[in-house]
Amino acid sequence: MEVLDKIKCPQCGAENDLPVDEKFLECAYCGSAIYIDKKKVVTHFVIACNFNKQTAEGNLKRWMAGNFQVKDLDKLAQISQVNFYYFPMWYFKTKDASSEKIYLQPATSTSISEIKKINIPAGSLKVFKEKDYNISEFIVPDVMYDSAQSWLAQSGVNPDSVAESDLVHIPFYQFYYNFKGQQYTALVEASSGMVYANVWPAKSEAPFRIMFGAGIAVFLFMSVISFIIGFMFERNTELALVSGEMIKVPLYLVAAIPLIIIAYFIAKKV
Ligand SMILES: [Zn+2]
Repeated sequence: MEVLDKIKCPQCGAENDLPVDEKFLECAYCGSAIYIDKKKVVTHFVIACNFNKQTAEGNLKRWMAGNFQVKDLDKLAQISQVNFYYFPMWYFKTKDASSEKIYLQPATSTSISEIKKINIPAGSLKVFKEKDYNISEFIVPDVMYDSAQSWLAQSGVNPDSVAESDLVHIPFYQFYYNFKGQQYTALVEASSGMVYANVWPAKSEAPFRIMFGAGIAVFLFMSVISFIIGFMFERNTELALVSGEMIKVPLYLVAAIPLIIIAYFIAKKV
């Protein structure tokens, strides 16, 4: 092994030999995983996995039963496959006088762009040591530090404000499921249990749009009726307008009741 230089472990401060063309290495002294790119030394962190396959599936089912998903998706979806892996992400923390901000960028390609919205709870990062984990569950990063940094610059972040950059491995269960002949994918983040998906069998919006339009028409009609009644009983224009406003209130309430009931049944049906 040809040794170019020494690098300092960001965790224990020990000097390690820097091998040529090695981007990933383990500190020979404390076992921390280290990433090096053009002399930039980065620590690998890992986020604790708090879910097993069953509890992760439970979260997915609750998400499927939610208001944005098609009715009975939780009962009708057929899970065909579940994969568990640690997904690598570049983690940048910027600091200025007033605030701290965290930016995340996938360190490998993914079809689920929602993954960028993930929140990493403070204090959940643990130094990654290979011997404590099943290394085959870790996806190897292929987006290098340089590309992640230029992405950061493109999103308008001043490189000088970056106070910390790390590589973070986040545990996920990836579920594949079938619904009405179509295959879908959803991720359950195994630290918080949050569900991430780009596409899912969604509720049809058309009945709600029709309902919204009908609601406006009904209330407009009620307003016109109120003023007509107002002018029927009051000769004075001002008094007629005031009584029109007052008649509107009970009429609105009467109109709202069937609309709410109809909306409830539409929401249950679709
Ligand atoms: Zn070390």
